[in-house]
Amino acid sequence: MANFHLHYRLFPVAAFLLLLSFPLSFSHSQSDNEADQDSPVSRFQRYLRIKTAHPDPDYASAVAFLKSQALEIGLNARILEFVPGKPLLLVTWYGSNPSSPSILLNSHMDSVPAESSKWLHPPFSAVRTSDGRIFARGSQDDKCIAIQYLEAIRNLRSQNFVPARTIHISYVPDEEIGGFDGAAKFVQSKEFKELNVGFMMDEGQASPGDEFRVFYADRSPWGLIIKAKGTPGHGSRMYDNSAMENLMKSIEIMSRFRESQFEIVKAGEAANSEVISVNPVFVNAGIPSPTGFVMNMQPSEAEAGFDIRIPPTADPDAIRRRIVEEWAPARRNMTFQIIEKGPIRDYLGGPLMTMTNDSNPWWSVFKTAISEAGGKLSRPEILATTTDARFMRQMKIPVLGFSPMTNTPILLHDHNEFLRDSVFLRGIKVYESLISALSSFQEDVSSQ
Ligand SMILES: [Zn+2]
Repeated sequence: MANFHLHYRLFPVAAFLLLLSFPLSFSHSQSDNEADQDSPVSRFQRYLRIKTAHPDPDYASAVAFLKSQALEIGLNARILEFVPGKPLLLVTWYGSNPSSPSILLNSHMDSVPAESSKWLHPPFSAVRTSDGRIFARGSQDDKCIAIQYLEAIRNLRSQNFVPARTIHISYVPDEEIGGFDGAAKFVQSKEFKELNVGFMMDEGQASPGDEFRVFYADRSPWGLIIKAKGTPGHGSRMYDNSAMENLMKSIEIMSRFRESQFEIVKAGEAANSEVISVNPVFVNAGIPSPTGFVMNMQPSEAEAGFDIRIPPTADPDAIRRRIVEEWAPARRNMTFQIIEKGPIRDYLGGPLMTMTNDSNPWWSVFKTAISEAGGKLSRPEILATTTDARFMRQMKIPVLGFSPMTNTPILLHDHNEFLRDSVFLRGIKVYESLISALSSFQEDVSSQ
């Protein structure tokens, strides 16, 4: 400051130029900043910069940001907390017909961690490259839809659109670690019941091609641990029913089953997500020694763990029977443990899937809204992994998994996750079409 005054006195011409250029450049950068603050893409970038990656997701900042956005648009926002430190933000746009079942749009706030050193750009910088790619952890999974929901509503409100059905957006914690303290608690709450949800949309996945992908079910994950016991013995002896022999028999049988399922996929008769996958994840056996394992002794216990994924079209009871009779039978001295990670049936015992045919009127509304937005849909799919949608399907609420990303490589949980700005912006238009159609849909009561 002092230097500036000195120059002003000593070099009036230079000072004049300085004064001339300084305010100009200042206002220029300020207007850049303003434009930056005010665009859908910049709001997306701001959300991406909030670190909600595990193991220490900053939910407070995410909730504060999303809430401020919702209030700015003129929506209602309240924070629910079923588990301390794990807030859930519920945003509401009241419809003109509040007694009709509502529409719920869901998005999880958390993301998986990112290994910064393997990224082209820092994973929480939300850098936009000159070709429009926005690099950030969560850009595809699933912070894009979080902002697209709000931006679509912002646009609809500015067009004076009035929804008939009430529209809610839920921003939930902990999806990436199972959703047990997030969506699972939410669907069991009285607050959820009061929402009277008729139809819900949740995250989907990117599509490398021109067509949007839509998911009508998740596979249900099981962790299976099988244990074998047997008489220990000298490594040189041949005898029946050793723990290792019994475990190996099971692994052989399970491998054949795995092969039979994989053959169906290889033959092109089903997608990966449509068969039962059984993959070994650990084997635990042997008697440790300072140099490795004792080699001349057959152990009395051995166990193995498997990741099993069950599509909603398979019968979980049949799989349970198979485990009892073939994979871990008592006659081979075996026991087993199934670690269920979420529901496998809805509360009435039906499969956790949403119909994508004429029996589900919401499906037609969804399909029509996509084509009205100029989009094409690929064949509805089962998601190979799991999402929070399974908790809502458990309540028998129809849920479609959908993230409007075409011509985009599938990079969820991967290094260099990115979304193109043009794809992000087109997604807002798609949601405008979806939200206006879904919220205006009049159910034909007679057909129910
Ligand atoms: Zn996700």
